[in-house]
Amino acid sequence: MNLVVLSGGTGTPKLLEGLEVIVGQERLNVIVNTADDFWYYGLYISPDIDTVIYLFSNLLDKNKYWGIRDDTFNAFEMLKLYGMPGWFHLGDRDLAMHIFRTYLLRKGYTLTAVTKYICKRLGVKANVLPMSDDHVETYVLTDIGELHIQEYLVKYRFKPKVYGITFPGIEKASATIDVLKALDEGDAIVLGPSNPINSIGPILNVKNVRSKIKERKEKDIPVIAISPIIGTKALSGPAHIFMKALGYEPTPYGIAEIYSDIISDIIIHKTDEKYANIIRRKLGIEVHLENIIMKDLDDKIRLAKKVLEIISKKSSTKQPT
Ligand code: GDP
Repeated sequence: MNLVVLSGGTGTPKLLEGLEVIVGQERLNVIVNTADDFWYYGLYISPDIDTVIYLFSNLLDKNKYWGIRDDTFNAFEMLKLYGMPGWFHLGDRDLAMHIFRTYLLRKGYTLTAVTKYICKRLGVKANVLPMSDDHVETYVLTDIGELHIQEYLVKYRFKPKVYGITFPGIEKASATIDVLKALDEGDAIVLGPSNPINSIGPILNVKNVRSKIKERKEKDIPVIAISPIIGTKALSGPAHIFMKALGYEPTPYGIAEIYSDIISDIIIHKTDEKYANIIRRKLGIEVHLENIIMKDLDDKIRLAKKVLEIISKKSSTKQPT
């Protein structure tokens, strides 16, 4: 079985860890959000790609879900001494990734090619795919002005009031051949428990991605979303704040509504039963209740098993075409 997973940099990587244990990296095609990529210290930083690569190369700091485990910060401290900004931490070993990636990008290689090469060197067997080779940014309009998404998340810890979000570059971003091929060949597509607005949202808005997933769903390929929200609050980060700001109900129902044209199934938290009927009735999406909190490896494996169980049930009842 070939799985395609759409991912941001925190919630979905946790699920990927569980999926890796059960199906192995080789079967995982991960389409990763790059709309929060940015330039910092003259280096191209791709936070979500980094987390996914570090996860699969067993380097990830799983306490923070960014950076390399047990990294030191000597270069970062020196850079601060020179007056460089210090709100986005870069570890010494992590810096090598950014220097090397920037070097290759400046030589003219695409982000897809660079990612593939780095994965090969680090022994990553999963197919890690940037959502696009076109540069997209994310800005949040707040009561203290317009902030880059990383500034909003990391520097201001999502405290400012949010009025809107823009994605400059998204209208011109096209999907890579690799992304479309993965979506075409996947036996199932998973929209991981990532922020639906600033992580999964940009991936779906890259030209041809949403329509391709819809086309696959219409061919009875299971398309499963996992809620990043329990009740009215995200498990971490500002998903509920962004949903509210954009006029969505910040609940599992709101998540299902955002994905309603492209998913066949959604997994929501076991205590959120009250949303199940309305999702089924109003949106025609199958709902599965499960513990969706991933604190340790057992939780991640349990949720990954649930995803695979839904896929195998659907695949066995699929009508021959
Ligand atoms: P970002 O790239 O760091 O913004 O990360 P993502 O968008 O991938 O992940 C953030 C989302 O993950 C938030 O909306 C969280 O609610 C969700 N999340 C974090 N931990 C968990 C978890 O254990 N279970 C589920 N279901 N969602 C989680």
